[in-house]
Amino acid sequence: MTDAAQSVTVKGTAVVDGVRFAPAVWVAPRPTLPTSSTPLPEDKRPEELERFTVAADAVAVRLEERSAAVTGNAAEVLKATAGMVRDRGWRKAVRKATNAGHTAEFAVVEATGSFIAMFEKAGGLMAERVTDLRDIRDRVIAELRGEPEPGLPQADREVVLLADDLSPADTAVLDTSIFTALVTRLGGPTSHTAIIARQLGVPCIVAAGSQLETISEGTAVLVDGGAGTVTTGVDPEQAGRLVADSRAKAEKIKSWRGPSQTKDGHRVQLLANVQDGNAAKKAAETQAEGIGLFRTELCFLSATSEPSVENQAEVYQKVFEAFPDSKVVVRTLDAGSDKPVPFASLAHEDNPALGVRGLRIARQNEELLTRQLDAIALASKQAGRGPDVPTWVMAPMVATAYEAQWFAGLCRERGLTAGAMIEVPAAALMADHLLPHLDFVSIGTNDLTQYTMAADRLSPELAYLTDPWQPAVLRLIQHTCEVAKTTQTPVGVCGEAAADPNLAIVLTGLGVSSLSAASNSVAAVGAHLAEVDINFCLAAADAAMCASGAQEARAAVQALFDAQS
Ligand code: PEP
Ligand code: MG
Repeated sequence: MTDAAQSVTVKGTAVVDGVRFAPAVWVAPRPTLPTSSTPLPEDKRPEELERFTVAADAVAVRLEERSAAVTGNAAEVLKATAGMVRDRGWRKAVRKATNAGHTAEFAVVEATGSFIAMFEKAGGLMAERVTDLRDIRDRVIAELRGEPEPGLPQADREVVLLADDLSPADTAVLDTSIFTALVTRLGGPTSHTAIIARQLGVPCIVAAGSQLETISEGTAVLVDGGAGTVTTGVDPEQAGRLVADSRAKAEKIKSWRGPSQTKDGHRVQLLANVQDGNAAKKAAETQAEGIGLFRTELCFLSATSEPSVENQAEVYQKVFEAFPDSKVVVRTLDAGSDKPVPFASLAHEDNPALGVRGLRIARQNEELLTRQLDAIALASKQAGRGPDVPTWVMAPMVATAYEAQWFAGLCRERGLTAGAMIEVPAAALMADHLLPHLDFVSIGTNDLTQYTMAADRLSPELAYLTDPWQPAVLRLIQHTCEVAKTTQTPVGVCGEAAADPNLAIVLTGLGVSSLSAASNSVAAVGAHLAEVDINFCLAAADAAMCASGAQEARAAVQALFDAQS
């Protein structure tokens, strides 16, 4: 029972599922930043620079030590943060400011400010790194002042951690037996907080907005990472039951084994999304049956020139080797917009999300695409794949039947199985013209939602629109599946929607035959599908599609579950 009079629910973006109940603690406040500085006499300036260097070195060493003490993503994140503190460009900017007579503290604020402006202007993934810049700024300022390092509060019992945004350095060393859930006011689903929370498997909500500030330190809160809600005033007994249910569900997921099917034997292939050979190796340790989306552009984000066919093949081969006898779907470069690949992206566009990205780049530079297809074919051959284990290749951002036909032709010339992503609404609406040219399609719900709802997928303010439960998006998926039935074209989903267990049931009901998402979400989806039959999936699909909005669609499917139990 919830005390309605005193209960407050704050809604954010769900990142990691799981229910927890504990007192809230806030991350220690950041140091107040100097807004001006009185010019220092010339003879004091070298001393000031030295003060900065000593402080910055101390911060970098601490981060490096913490990096050495952990493994995996956490170690990478800490190393990258230490690298920012050691970055020559940033230190040069601080030196310039101290040479101009500013105090070390103000020089750090000035220098970091110019980098923040640059990153924000670049947008996309770069803009999400702004939190990291602010973090190193604050750590160095605290060090300069001899103040305690900003970051995690001390706690000796279970707590829920609330913060504006968590720095990578904090999240990377988080003890999840103490910090049982994370909720941030800012951040997006691809921010560092979200990435590390997924790795740690700790319930997490981001982009909870300013309402989160109404929750004061010490208040007992119920966090539902799956629903994206933080609630106060919940009866402790009821909260205890919800937490116990959530932990039992987690146990079920842990023990689930594939291949995935509904309880009456309707098969749904569960695949993993990867960005390189390492991720593919990790995916091979899960219950994923193969790779449903290999995002090749992420291999080349820092390559300033196009890698040769042989060098590309070497990179792709590692992914094939992780799944030597299984389905692997390679996506050709989806450069542009929030994924600037220096050798493939256009220099400047006013509206890059609607610009020359994905397959559109190849329309202007066909050789870039054909060299990549040659590299995929070469890697496939080198990995020993043959007619029994075909290599599937798909193009991102296909919008017209002509593009589908042109791309498929280029693939088939090289013995590759040809597909397209359905992520532009036009492609879904014109499925009857596109699908006859293709061997398979895969629905990219992240972009399909962005373009259907005309809402930037990276904007926390628009998260209520960029929700794949939007019935408008489900109707486009249904239309695609209906056409696919007549052309016998396999339809997959490879956007984040495929990681949501209830939505996976809806997608199955709509006619999707494979689901691909982050490999650590596979078991949760598989365990959930195993608990329903295909008729339930059909009813869930119907209920969600007929709902008036995303929340209503979620509620309609939940109501079907509640009616069942
Ligand atoms: C998508 O748009 O759903 C998708 C899978 O592609 P990406 O997220 O890489 O744009
Ligand atoms: Mg996409």
